[in-house]
Amino acid sequence: MIVVMQSEATKAQVNHVVKLIREMGLREHIIVGTERTVVAALGDDRHKDKDKLENAGGVERVMPVLAPYKMASREVKKERSIVPLGGRLGGSAGGKRLAIIAGPCSVEDRAKTLELAQAVRDAGATGLRGGAFKPRTSPYAFQGLGEKGLEILAQARDKTGLAVVTEVMAVDQVALVGRYADVLQVGARNMQNFNLLCAVGEQHKPVLLKRGISATLEEFLLAAEYIMSRGNPNVILCERGIRTFENYCRNTLPLAVVPEIHRISHLPIIVDPSQGTGHAHLVPDMCRAAVACGADGLIIECHADPEHALTDGAQSITPRVLAALAESLQKIAAAVDRQW
Ligand code: PEP
Ligand code: MN
Repeated sequence: MIVVMQSEATKAQVNHVVKLIREMGLREHIIVGTERTVVAALGDDRHKDKDKLENAGGVERVMPVLAPYKMASREVKKERSIVPLGGRLGGSAGGKRLAIIAGPCSVEDRAKTLELAQAVRDAGATGLRGGAFKPRTSPYAFQGLGEKGLEILAQARDKTGLAVVTEVMAVDQVALVGRYADVLQVGARNMQNFNLLCAVGEQHKPVLLKRGISATLEEFLLAAEYIMSRGNPNVILCERGIRTFENYCRNTLPLAVVPEIHRISHLPIIVDPSQGTGHAHLVPDMCRAAVACGADGLIIECHADPEHALTDGAQSITPRVLAALAESLQKIAAAVDRQW
């Protein structure tokens, strides 16, 4: 349930509400809004008596949170959350400015990565993506460079100021990846790896959470809730396409998810049209469509020589295409009151 405080409620009254919540065996989560403070009482509140809270000083009303995800829900926080990406460029997801993250599917070698990072930066991106630990369907496929890949990404950040976004696949990699990355990506295959969600929730770097290939929106937001309930509010959701009967594309990219997430959650949501389609020729149009329907940003696979990319070349656009895309995206962003 959430306790909505009166606009003139004092700090002492908020503290008293927190004390009552704790006495009920629940945990508080305080949201200080522009007009009033809201205190969410988290935990199983089904048999809790809310009268005490309703009668406490400074309380305007007590309302149940109907959604099973509480901290991620729009019921608890009306204003959109803005999640900073890190890096020197000051990018974020959820504000007026779009979060544009681009780079190779996997980090392949130092020179190529540094050159590509510069091209991505010149195109106007604020984030550099690149996998050092890769979740591959086949155990024989390239699995990523591991820590060496992370070092290369960190060097690219030092050179360009781009925020580094890279995947963490296991609990025992969280500390290592966290030392190099600005944003930790939890991949689609790990969206319901609850131990991993808790581990990234217990560290302070922002998390890019990708939707599982067969996850409902409720499951997606409950995965975000795991991270938030462990103390990390900085979750960026990512729609990356789902598995359907359709096979003209690698995945089906359901863009209606973007406005729907904005309706039910305050978290930012970005779109990955690369995994979402599997085909480079579809990526620019789906980027434009994603921005047009309100996405808070894009994560795009980009490679200077897609034919020879070690992973996901077929869905990687070249830096030249990215630069051209930037021009048209600026117009679409302006039309929906955003900035590239
Ligand atoms: C990726 O970003 O390269 C990736 C593997 O993403 P996903 O988890 O969405 O498949
Ligand atoms: Mn990929």
